[in-house]
Amino acid sequence: MSKLVSLGLKKFLRTMKKLLPILCIALMITSCKNDVKPEIKEDLTQTEKAEFAIVIHGGAGYIRKDNISDEKEIEYRQKLEEAIRVGYNILKDGGTSLDAVQKTINILEDSPLFNSGKGGVFTNEGTCEHDASIMDGSNLNAGASAGTKTVKNPIDLARAVMENSPHVILSREGAEEFAEAQGLEIVDPEYFFTEKSMKALERVKASEQKKMASFYDTDIQNSKFGTVGCAALDKHGNLAAGTSTGGMTNKRWGRIGDSPIIGAGTYANNKTCAVSSTGWGEYFIRGMVAYDISALMEYKGLSLEEASKEVIQNKLPSVGDGKGNGGIIALDAFGNIAMEFNTPGMFRATMNDKGELYIGMFKD
Ligand code: ASP
Repeated sequence: MSKLVSLGLKKFLRTMKKLLPILCIALMITSCKNDVKPEIKEDLTQTEKAEFAIVIHGGAGYIRKDNISDEKEIEYRQKLEEAIRVGYNILKDGGTSLDAVQKTINILEDSPLFNSGKGGVFTNEGTCEHDASIMDGSNLNAGASAGTKTVKNPIDLARAVMENSPHVILSREGAEEFAEAQGLEIVDPEYFFTEKSMKALERVKASEQKKMASFYDTDIQNSKFGTVGCAALDKHGNLAAGTSTGGMTNKRWGRIGDSPIIGAGTYANNKTCAVSSTGWGEYFIRGMVAYDISALMEYKGLSLEEASKEVIQNKLPSVGDGKGNGGIIALDAFGNIAMEFNTPGMFRATMNDKGELYIGMFKD
């Protein structure tokens, strides 16, 4: 009996010896299968982390070489460079991304060239109503103001709302009252009067009367939007973004666009990216454009470039009747930059930690 058992055991061991390599291979295959990781995009980790970086926009729209004079082009380039250098210097000296965003936007707000602050476009009544927002990616704090007529630099108000009020968005007279109490610069609404904005309003009204274009249609598409925005990464690893605008020519009924809407016009999160939008606000709100880029990175592992392309080139044109146009500028925690738009042009500029400057206006 014991002989029989030892014979059986020997046979079993022999068979096992033969099967061992096969078993090992099978084991390896199953363990590899269990080890398959969800697809992770490598783009972010492959990038050498920048110490700091900054990107700005001055609006997206029908900005084409053939509809802008050489002199105007130079003016735009100079102002974009002046603005971005302000933010660059703050970041280089170890300042915060919030300061860089705010001070850079101040330069653009003070210029009549862009649709923000001084150069804000006119409402149907010929007034100027500003919207702005700012967001701190380190703690998801945010502040915004909408429909103000007397605050010289609406981005300053947005920051004050974020830092000195328990709220996120303040609007109209209440926001102006708060701005005054905060000691921000208040101006006569006349300050915002520019020939350019007046002509744009006349154009849009004339075509509206002739019924050549429906409200906010062809004429709006043929005019440059000109909102301004900035995203920055500082040496402390914090991201911030901000946006400031006069909105859209001929707006009425207290219309508020995407610019003061956190998640649509502005978004920042150290985990993903900082984004500022520009374009036809009604579509950017419904598309939650800025947050959508962040969400694609956070939940789907897309790179900044992939997420920005997806939202601007695929999602935005699929919102509503498909007329949504505009663009974004964005920055991730590694200093990667995206400047995506589906319009003929977008005023934009970037500077990296090596001091390299890029300025663009048209589709390159
Ligand atoms: N997004 C802005 C708005 O709809 C306009 C712009 O970007 O120029 O108010």
